[in-house]
Order: sequence, then structure tokens, then C-alpha cells
Amino acid sequence: MNLAHNPATLAQITGRDQARIATALSLSQSEARLETQVLLAAALNVNRAHLIAHADETPQEALLTRYCSMLERRLAGEPVAYILGTREFYGLTFRVNPDVLIPRPETELLVDLALSHLPDNRPCFVLDLGTGSGAIAIAIAKHRPHTQVIAIDRSLQAVRVAKMNAYTLQAHNVTFIQGDWCAAMGVKIFDIIVANPPYIRENDPHLAQGDLRFEPQSALAAGEDGLASIRQIAADASQHLVPEGWLILEHGYDQAEACRHILKHAGFARTASMSDLAGIERATIGLLKSDNA
Ligand code: GLN
Repeated sequence: MNLAHNPATLAQITGRDQARIATALSLSQSEARLETQVLLAAALNVNRAHLIAHADETPQEALLTRYCSMLERRLAGEPVAYILGTREFYGLTFRVNPDVLIPRPETELLVDLALSHLPDNRPCFVLDLGTGSGAIAIAIAKHRPHTQVIAIDRSLQAVRVAKMNAYTLQAHNVTFIQGDWCAAMGVKIFDIIVANPPYIRENDPHLAQGDLRFEPQSALAAGEDGLASIRQIAADASQHLVPEGWLILEHGYDQAEACRHILKHAGFARTASMSDLAGIERATIGLLKSDNA
């Protein structure tokens, strides 16, 4: 069928643009199909099931124009989450823009670990360092209404995005502060400190590829070995945790051993690393030793 002379149906649009996205971004056909459907569904304000159930329908011109501009952005490499302006994390919908890192599924492990150490019947205090969109802080706050969460980011723009997310998601027990890691915390101490800091090596070629090109580099890269922020956080955290408080850190696929070493060196015991759903050691935890332990 000649698409130039016949208005394209939803099925034809999906087939055609799936191939374009796959080629432009070196994605598999199934990844490209999913992305095409997600963009088309968003432009038409329907869900993906609608696209399949109404495969023979032709979209209105105005909606098609909206879809085409979203498609062009994706073909130029822009991440789907920035085009849609939202990303799901821990069952919640977060607003995202290029001022914040796009929440990753593997980071849900940090929320699981924090919740597993937080009782739900008494007040606790949690600090989230480098909060970005606020995803971790807000997910914890929503699941532990008695817990007070303070979340910090050095970027004022990120703090704005996080505050908007807390407002929309009605997370009332989380406070956002602009600051550099623990520097703004004075003498405050917490039961748990959690962080998904930058941890990619600053000369890693991946930083110039794919979605990462569009994300804030300050949220991704940390020094020559990628561990600069993790070292800083481990050193600061011991001043801001109760004795036997937990530090919970996300790190790169090959940094678990180095992280455990850094935590031990900074006064943490019972260090352990946990794997994400892909089976990659993705988070390391440590318990702050009490003075006489
Ligand atoms: N996990 C992210 C990635 O490799 C990096 C996030 C981070 O540095 N905290 O794409």
C-alpha cells in the first residue's frame, strides 16, 4: 500500500516507524515496536491496547502531527521519558525533564532495601542524597507514612522537579533541600541514609551514547574510577547516622567489592551487596558500628 496516497492506519504507522526507530537507534524490533506504541498512544491519549484493538483506524490530522513531532525527537535520540515527561517508578508516575536523571527499574532495589529496614509503626528519619526527581525519597515516604524523609540535591532545578512530584503524588512526609551531599545537614542524624549517586567513570564512552547523552552528567559521572561520590558519601554518612543506622548505596555493575571496602574503611559493619533483577550486584549496605562495638 502506498502510504503517501492513503491515510495510514494505526497498524501501518506502527510497522513503518518501528523499523525507523530500530534502524536509527540500533534497537531490536521488539524494543522499537514498544517505543513506537508508547509514543503513538501518548500522542493519541489512549493506551497501548487501544492501538491494537483499533489497528485499522486512521488518527486525526492534529494528533498525527503531535505524534510526528514526538517521533522526530526520538529519532534524534532523545529518551522516551523526556519526550513523554513522565516515568514510572515503584508504581508511581514521576514527572521528569533533562534536569533530572530518569529513574531506572534497578533503583527500585534501593527502595526495597530501605523499606526492609524501616518499621512501619514508629517514626524514623531517612536522608536521600542526590534525590534528582525525588523518586527514591517519595517512594519511601509513600510506603512509610510515619517516617520523615529529607532529600537533598545540589541542583536547584532538580529540587524543583522533586518538589513538584511530591506535591502531585501527595507525599507529605518528605522535605527537599538544595545542598551538597551532607553539607547542609548540620548536626541532624538519621536512621537510614540512601543514595543513588553518580558512579560512572568520567571517561566511560557510554556517557556519549544513547539516553545518557541527554541526562545531567553531574548525576552520572564521578571521577576517574566512578567512585568519588561514593567515597565522599561514605565518609560524610558516619557523622549523620544513629549508631546501627544503615547506609544504602547504588553502584555500578563492577563496583560492589570496592563499595564494601569503602564502607568498611568508613566504619561500617555487616556490609553486603544485593543483586538487581538482572542478577547484577547493584546495591551495597553497611551498618554504622556503635562506638563500643
Ligand atoms: N545506572 C545508570 C546507568 O548506568 C547510572 C546512574 C547513576 O550513575 N547513578 O545508566
